[in-house]
Amino acid sequence: MQGELAAQAEWDYAPAPESRDIVSIAPEYGLFIDGEFVPAADGRQFATLNPATEEPLAQVADAGEADVDRAVAAARAAYERVWGPMPGAERAKYLYRIARLLQERSREFAVLESLDNGKPIKESRDVDIPLAAAHFFYHAGWADKLEHAGFGPSPRPLGVAGQVIPWNFPLLMAAWKLAPALAAGNTCVLKPAETTPLSALLLAEVCQQAGLPPGVLNVTTGAGSTGAALVSHPGVDKIAFTGSTEVGKEIQRAVAGTGKRLTLELGGKAANIVFDDAPVEGAVEGIVNGIFFNQGHVCCAGSRLLVQESVADAVLGRLRDRLGTLRLGDPLDKNTDIGAINSRQQLDKIRALSDAGEAEGAERWSPPCQLPDRGYWFPPTLFTGVSQSHRIAQEEIFGPVLSVLTFRTPDEAVAKANNTPYGLSAGVWTEKGSRILWMAQRLRAGVVWANTYNRFDPTSPFGGYRESGFGREGGRHGLAAYLNA
Ligand code: NDP
Repeated sequence: MQGELAAQAEWDYAPAPESRDIVSIAPEYGLFIDGEFVPAADGRQFATLNPATEEPLAQVADAGEADVDRAVAAARAAYERVWGPMPGAERAKYLYRIARLLQERSREFAVLESLDNGKPIKESRDVDIPLAAAHFFYHAGWADKLEHAGFGPSPRPLGVAGQVIPWNFPLLMAAWKLAPALAAGNTCVLKPAETTPLSALLLAEVCQQAGLPPGVLNVTTGAGSTGAALVSHPGVDKIAFTGSTEVGKEIQRAVAGTGKRLTLELGGKAANIVFDDAPVEGAVEGIVNGIFFNQGHVCCAGSRLLVQESVADAVLGRLRDRLGTLRLGDPLDKNTDIGAINSRQQLDKIRALSDAGEAEGAERWSPPCQLPDRGYWFPPTLFTGVSQSHRIAQEEIFGPVLSVLTFRTPDEAVAKANNTPYGLSAGVWTEKGSRILWMAQRLRAGVVWANTYNRFDPTSPFGGYRESGFGREGGRHGLAAYLNA
């Protein structure tokens, strides 16, 4: 009994909250157009909340068609007069400056991102912000080398890029979109997600601080209708979108026949495949990272675990033990593993799909876990006894919910992994290098991780097939999407 108590005491963590004093959130934010913060033409605003407490954080300008039009005109003027003609080596200096300012102000960005999004501070601090800075550093390096990048002797920018991003990695998705576009000489109009506008607006402030010429970056905050106005604006040359497959299809229809260039990074339902020769502890960490990182709000999340039948009980036993150690709660606490769900709407979707999983006959399990009284929360959840036809095996849940299926042979693993309309990512856990290569050749996914999961690097192209979209972001391939070669 005493031993038990001692073990219990050993695992109790004292609260370790990051201070929010480093961030000063204004009561109101304007749109960022032509280098200045301005109200929406019709004065409309919307509130952004802290999803961990439901406390309103700020009122943000809601851009309508007239504002989008102004932003596109500012981007066009900046493209023609300043940014397009500027030598790459000069553009690079601005991108390096933005990257360094992101690093200098990284704590401020991390706290703001966790407040507005609900993600744990250790993830915003150690993943989102450093990777966002890395994207600016990496692309700054390309700005003066585009003629040597294999796109012909004088690749040209496209013009004005309209970029629509989701709420799961607000700053990082902004960096993925802006850094290559700006490095290649385009100017940008960015539409952040309605529930997470604040870090994009702080990035706009950083661009002011870096002396970026007015109009090169414009941020039009608002809802889906703002995104739709941007997508259909005739003054935009290129659309880049990350978000749901449903909206991606709408955008593809809107852009069809206009001559605009388009890249779509959409949903996923990735298989994380564990073979019987995989080191179990490592695989369990990879499974946890695959689906519980960022509350599972990850397009490439390993949301279907395919585990070889002979080791299923052993792997699931360890996995349940490991899930029992995850700490859910205050996103600003440095010990927190699972933060808040980003919005009421997303929580409702996760609940509905999880209820469908139970109704269709799968077995639901969560570790004992106290959910806070206020805010949007969902416990880490495991479904066993899942069959391929279940909705939880087919649809993107976009939450901390793992569907477990088993297989007997590598062929069966491939068939089950590919039995999805998506094709964004996959994971393979095995000791054998030859098996990794065999699997990677057969898995229909844009990214295949071997004995790791959710690894991102600006040098590495990322993107999908089929309903996961088309085009690549990152690396040389990502640059191609912003150039007329
Ligand atoms: P959406 O695809 O609706 O949103 C992504 C971005 O597009 C947001 O900025 C959104 O604005 C904007 N948008 C919405 N409608 C339009 C439109 N008609 N034209 C142009 N832009 C538009 O995703 P949600 O955030 O609503 O999430 C819904 C589901 O999508 C999730 O449950 C998840 O399954 C999936 N998803 C997948 C992501 C991925 O990376 N694969 C990322 C996010 C979501 P606003 O925020 O104001 O609605």
